[in-house]
Order: sequence, then C-alpha cells, then structure tokens
Amino acid sequence: MSETVERHEFGAEVGRLLDLVVHALYSDREIFLRELVANAADAMDRRRFEALRGGAPALPPDAKVRLVPEKEARTLTVSDSGIGMSKEELGQNLGTIARSGTRAFSQTLATEKPAEGAEDTRPSLIGQFGVGFYAAFMVADRVRVTSRKAGAEEAFAWESDGRGGYTLEPAERSEPGTDIVLHLKEDAGEYLESYRLEHLVRKWADFITVPVAIVAEGKEE
Ligand code: ADP
Ligand code: MG
Repeated sequence: MSETVERHEFGAEVGRLLDLVVHALYSDREIFLRELVANAADAMDRRRFEALRGGAPALPPDAKVRLVPEKEARTLTVSDSGIGMSKEELGQNLGTIARSGTRAFSQTLATEKPAEGAEDTRPSLIGQFGVGFYAAFMVADRVRVTSRKAGAEEAFAWESDGRGGYTLEPAERSEPGTDIVLHLKEDAGEYLESYRLEHLVRKWADFITVPVAIVAEGKEE
C-alpha cells in the first residue's frame, strides 16, 4: 500500500446495514442498478443546479449515464458527469449512514426479523426505502468509486470490499463526475450482458429521468 492510501473503518451501523442488504435482500438484488442510476441522475441534477448559480461548470449538453460492462475484467461501471464528490464527501457519503431514509430502513429491517419458520417479507422493504449505494455489494465483492468534484482539479478513489472498511487515495479523472466500478461476484455475471442491462433500464424507465447508454465493447448502444 502506498503512503497516500488512507484506510478507514465503517461505523457499526454501516456494517450492520451492509450485512442485511447483502444477506437478507439477496432475492431482489437487481435493484442495485436502479439505485446507482438514480444516484447518477441526482448528481447530474445537482450539477445542473449548481451551474445555474455559478458554482460549477455547466453540465455537457449530451450528458448521460453510461453503463459499461467489461467481460474480460468482469466489471460493470456506472459513470456520470454529475456534481462529483470531494475526498471528504466520499468518506462522508459512502462511509457513514447520515441519510435518514437509510437509517429508517436499517431500523425497520432489524425490528422486523421474521419469526422462526415464518416467511421473510423484508425484501419488499427495499422498494419502500431504497437501500441506496450499498446495494452495489449485493452483486460486487469489490467496489471502486472514482470521483472528481465539479469545479475541482483533483480526483479521489474510494474502494471497499464491503467488509469492514474502505480506502481513500488520490486518483485521475479528466472531467468532473463519478465512476462506480463493480467487480462482479462469481454468480453475478448476468450483469455483463447488454441485453440484461437494457431490460432493467426499460423496466425502470419511469424512475429513470436521464438518458442512459449501454457501452459494450467500446460501442454505445
Ligand atoms: P441517497 O441517494 O438516498 O442519498 P445513497 O446511499 O444512494 O443515498 O447515496 C449516498 C450519497 O452518496 C448520496 O446522497 C450522494 O451524496 C452520494 N453519491 C452517491 N452516488 C453519487 C454519484 N454518482 N455522484 C455524486 N454523489 C453520489
Ligand atoms: Mg440513492
């Protein structure tokens, strides 16, 4: 590990939530994509808003969310040209549970544990609350987030295996925005297939308010 890599531990609450998301909600795991695209769309909206106030460079007119499956590397990347995150924001937003929705979700999951032998109805809760970013760990055993805040020169990378903590280190990104690289689990290879990604994007078309492009083998579809 180079000297510039900082290691941080997750708080107890994040650890518990990750555990619940990855184990209790397994059957609904395709929703990771909806959560990541929603975050990308939010980030683009925020950049558009900041740009109007003069606080960020304008969003490129053809801005879209890009889904990039790479079979050889077994990665799926979700990229946006949104507001981006500073180093501090990467740690705050992805390493703690500061958000009320996620906190409520985590509490409900903990209190609504099924009795022995009873059906586990908790997966349906995912739709009510939205688990957010941590849903990525349902399909990935390692997640790397590279982000450059709009208006800043430097970029940083956040990386975690979802087990105890995360690292932060300086990175490169030529434009503002965020790349979420999912190193897919052995049994999540379906998310490398363009048709599967297309199907999910169509399925959630009502939620997804920004253009989404699937970029497979270097070609945009
Ligand atoms: P929520 O979207 O409900 O706030 P998430 O867990 O989905 O919760 O995301 C946590 C936070 O991380 C977001 O509120 C946002 O500040 C930040 N974030 C996540 N993804 C991105 C992204 N692609 N670009 C910029 N910020 C992001
Ligand atoms: Mg979200």
